[in-house]
Amino acid sequence: MDTDVIVVGAGLAGAAATLKLSRAGRRVRVVEARTRCGGRGFARSFAGEGPSLEFGGAWITPWHHRLRALVPEHGMSLRPRHPVTNRLWLRDGTLHGDGPASSAEVTSHERAIARVAVDSILLKKGLAENEKGEALNGISFAAYLDRLACPRSTRDLFSAWWTVSGNGDHRKVAASEFLASCSYDNGLAEGMIRFWTDTVVPGIGVLAERMIAASGAELILDEPVTQVLRESSHVEIVTGTRRHRAGACVLALGINQLRNVEFTPWLSDGKSAALAHGHGGRSFKLWIRAEGVPVGTLVTGDGEGLEFAFAERAEGGTTYIVAFGLMQEGNHPSDPAWVKAQAAKLFPNARVLSHDWHDWLDDPFARGTWVAALAGHEAGYESANWQPEGRVAFASSDYARDQAGWFEGAVIAGEDAADAVLKLS
Ligand SMILES: Cc1cc2nc3c(=O)[nH]c(=O)nc-3n(C[C@H](O)[C@H](O)[C@H](O)COP(=O)(O)OP(=O)(O)OC[C@H]3O[C@@H](n4cnc5c(N)ncnc54)[C@H](O)[C@@H]3O)c2cc1C
Repeated sequence: MDTDVIVVGAGLAGAAATLKLSRAGRRVRVVEARTRCGGRGFARSFAGEGPSLEFGGAWITPWHHRLRALVPEHGMSLRPRHPVTNRLWLRDGTLHGDGPASSAEVTSHERAIARVAVDSILLKKGLAENEKGEALNGISFAAYLDRLACPRSTRDLFSAWWTVSGNGDHRKVAASEFLASCSYDNGLAEGMIRFWTDTVVPGIGVLAERMIAASGAELILDEPVTQVLRESSHVEIVTGTRRHRAGACVLALGINQLRNVEFTPWLSDGKSAALAHGHGGRSFKLWIRAEGVPVGTLVTGDGEGLEFAFAERAEGGTTYIVAFGLMQEGNHPSDPAWVKAQAAKLFPNARVLSHDWHDWLDDPFARGTWVAALAGHEAGYESANWQPEGRVAFASSDYARDQAGWFEGAVIAGEDAADAVLKLS
C-alpha cells in the first residue's frame, strides 16, 4: 500500500475528511486535479489587480457551526456582509423602491408570496404535498410558477431569487430547491440574504489548504483521477501518470465531477442514475466594478439577463457588485458590452468600469455551480444514495446529509466519510 487512505479532491469536503482521518492516526494521501486547494471555494484578486473576492461560494450562515469553529482554529477570520440598506425592483423597465408589484397587482402578488411561504414550511416539515394535495417534490420551478398563477412581476421576483437558490433551467430543476431556501426565513424568498451573514477571510480555498497542511497528509496537486478500481482488500486510484494504492479511499467529488471518473466495478444503480442525470446548477456569478452605486444596494431584475445584484463592497472609491443570472441562451456573462448593458438596467446611474468571473460550467473539475436537484430525481441527491461501497466512501456538499449545497455541507460530508472509513478497520 502507498498509504492508508487516499482522499480524491482537495475541496472543503476532502479537507475535512483528511483532517479527521489524520487525527485518528491514518496516513492520508490527497490527490487533487487542480494546482490549488478549495475547489468551488476560490478567492482571487478582481481582474488581477483589485481586492481578493470569492468567485465561487462566499457566504456562510449563523448556523454553519462547523465552519465557524474551523475558521479561528486555522488562523482565519470572518468578514460580515454589508447590510442591505437600499432595495430596488426593476418593473416595466423602471426601478421601483416601493415593492416588486404595482398597486393593481399587489393582492395577487401577496397571495403568491403567502402560498410560497406555506409550501416552503410544509416542505421543511417533510410533507410531500400541500393542503390542496399539490405535490411539493417532483415538480419543476417552471411548473410551480405556472401553478401559482401570479403576476409577471412576482414571477420575475421569484426568478431573481432562483438564480441564488435553484440556479438552473426553470423547466428542469426542482422547485423544492427554491422552497427550501425560502424556508430559512419562514417561507419568504426575500429573506434568503438575511442569513448570508459572513465571508471567510482570506478565503475558503486557503482554509482547505490549511486544514490539509495541519493534518500532515501528503498533498499531490495537478493530478486528475480518471479511474477507481475497487478490490475486496484495497482500492487503486488511476491518474494520467500513475496508480495509487491504499486500504480505503474517500472520493471527495461532487456529482458532476464523479461523471468524469470510471469505476471498476461500476457503482450501485442509485449512484449510476444520479451520475447519468448530473445536477443542474448553472448560475453565473459576476463581480462588477462600478462607480456611483451606494454599497448595500440590492436590485432584482425583470426575469432576464442579470437578475440579482448586490453592491457588496466599497474599496478605493469604487463599488464591487456581486451579480447572478442563469447560463442560458441570450446571456453572455463573459462579454463586457453585454454585462455593461445589463448592469445599466439595474444601476442606471452607475458607471460600470469592468467585470470579472469564473465560468464554473466550463471548468473541467467543477462542471457546474452548487448542487441543484433535477425535478423527479430528487432521491438521487440524498445522502442515503451516497453511502460507501466497499472500501470507497463518498463526500461532497452536493449530497451531504445536512446543509447540502453549502460549504458547511461539504465539511459534514467529509467528516461523515472519514467516520465510514474509520469503521472499516
Ligand atoms: C458560484 C458559486 C457560488 C456559491 N455560493 C456559495 C455560498 O455563498 N455559500 C456556500 O456555502 N456555498 C456556496 N457555493 C457552493 C460551495 O462552493 C460548494 O458547495 C462547496 O465548495 C463544495 O465543496 P466540495 O468539497 O463538495 O466540492 P468541490 O469544492 O468542488 O471540491 C472537489 C474537488 O475535487 C477536485 N476534482 C474534481 N475532479 C477531480 C478528479 N477527477 N481528480 C482529482 N480531483 C478532482 C476539484 O478540483 C475540487 O478541488 C457556491 C458555489 C458556486 C460555484
